[in-house]
Amino acid sequence: TTIGALLRMTAEHVGNRDALVDVPSGTRWSYRELDDRVDVVARGLLGLGVAKGDRVGIWARNRPEWVLVHLATARIGAILVTINPAYRTDELRYVLKQAGVGLLVAAEEYRAMVREAGHDPTVFLGTDWAGLIDKAVPAALLADRERELSFDDPINIQYTSGTTGFPKGATLSHHNVLNNARFVARRQGWTAADRVCVPVPFYHCFGSVVGTLAAITHGACVVIPAPSFDARATLAAVELERCTALYGVPTMFIAELAEPTFGDFDLSSLRTGVMAGSPCPVEVMKRVVAEMGMTEVTICYGMTETSPVATQSRREDDLERRVSTVGTPLPHVEVKIVDPATGLTVPRGEPGEFLTRGYSVMLGYWDMPERTAEAIDAGRWMHTGDLAVMDAAGYVSIVGRIKDVVIRGGENIYPAEVEEFLYTHPDIQDVQVIGVPDEHYGEQVMAWVIPRAGAVAPTAAALRDFCQGRIASYKIPRLVKVVDAFPLTVTGKIRKVEMREQSVRELG
Ligand code: ATP
Ligand code: MG
Repeated sequence: TTIGALLRMTAEHVGNRDALVDVPSGTRWSYRELDDRVDVVARGLLGLGVAKGDRVGIWARNRPEWVLVHLATARIGAILVTINPAYRTDELRYVLKQAGVGLLVAAEEYRAMVREAGHDPTVFLGTDWAGLIDKAVPAALLADRERELSFDDPINIQYTSGTTGFPKGATLSHHNVLNNARFVARRQGWTAADRVCVPVPFYHCFGSVVGTLAAITHGACVVIPAPSFDARATLAAVELERCTALYGVPTMFIAELAEPTFGDFDLSSLRTGVMAGSPCPVEVMKRVVAEMGMTEVTICYGMTETSPVATQSRREDDLERRVSTVGTPLPHVEVKIVDPATGLTVPRGEPGEFLTRGYSVMLGYWDMPERTAEAIDAGRWMHTGDLAVMDAAGYVSIVGRIKDVVIRGGENIYPAEVEEFLYTHPDIQDVQVIGVPDEHYGEQVMAWVIPRAGAVAPTAAALRDFCQGRIASYKIPRLVKVVDAFPLTVTGKIRKVEMREQSVRELG
């Protein structure tokens, strides 16, 4: 089906139930109200001359209108270009041009940058919103347009997070994202009674697909705690709205657990949720289960190019398996783990590159045929650039990105494995491991450490003592840098590329 048609079905089945709650503005829409508003915005976009296949940009932090524009563009078959709120003028200009954006919908706070980029036409949220609605064409015209849609039309250009380089625009169809949304919600065991707190940005598919669309597939409710991530606001929203599910990248859960007022919040409504986006440390997962009561929490692994989820842990599995693997492939998703050098499938239990194929693989990178051909091979397998291991029972563990592997004196070191161990140190709140150039070994292991509040960060020598005899000697970090925070993308992902550059500069 298409996104627009699915929303109508949900509104028919559970029209009176909450669809969207925005805590900062107090907005609260039922499915019936959401569907009606999406209709009006869709008719407004048609009134502004937006046609099927046109690219419409959205540039704003999380707010209800974001969801309206998301669903309204899908309803008329326009292609939504989701623009990172952290961008500034030059990046905005690049994306507008790369995707060929016509109409841009932007937050008022970005007006000066939009002007600087010289873009026209733009609808500013708040000020110009009423004007958009005034342009609404008759409902019959919208119905005509909806009949022209197909489930495999492109409806979204999602730029990748830009963790490893310049973002690429993954082009996704209704079919790509709706199937993914449905299966992800099903693994969380959702019903129309579920309420999911979404502190991750809508501009990324974690928010817009695993959040909004997954909710629509099951008639569940999306709760927006704040326009951008805020640990305290997130915990407060869970309590206030009795959320049953909570989303986040690992750094968000770590910040919530470290929030000084953590103990003041009643989180007893929480049952499930998703941690994803970066390696999910077992220690953090266990605390999420024990201290936040998310006994059925799942881990998802995937990427923008795979709509986004490829594997997810399963509620029915025991805790240990659930927190220490990224689960099994979603239904109708094929996976194989290959030796990147030969392309041959490796035996179970051995690391190799994670390849995936199926409905979830993107249509391609927008207007980048060479990059698309590098990523998706002739057999339609998507090459993820991630290293993974599949065990005998089919459970997948992510070892790390091929680009992040540290090669020290010929030994491959997977940073996530060292990080997992360092999380058990009592004075460490968060830790990231990278490789830095070394004259003797080629590369050396370095740890960036955020100490726990009130604790003194371990020195390099103390950390070495802690590791000695417990992990292989070559994996022990020889260099330690104490920081308050890591360089992050706006989705909360750690930019190891930037960490390496900074460390290389500092080490001279
Ligand atoms: P770019 O492709 O622009 O460098 P990115 O890869 O971070 O950025 P996304 O598509 O948002 O952009 O992220 C997908 C990547 O995130 C995966 O390829 C993988 O490296 C990492 N990832 C996602 N989920 C997990 C997980 N559960 N465990 C480990 N890594 C994960
Ligand atoms: Mg990527």
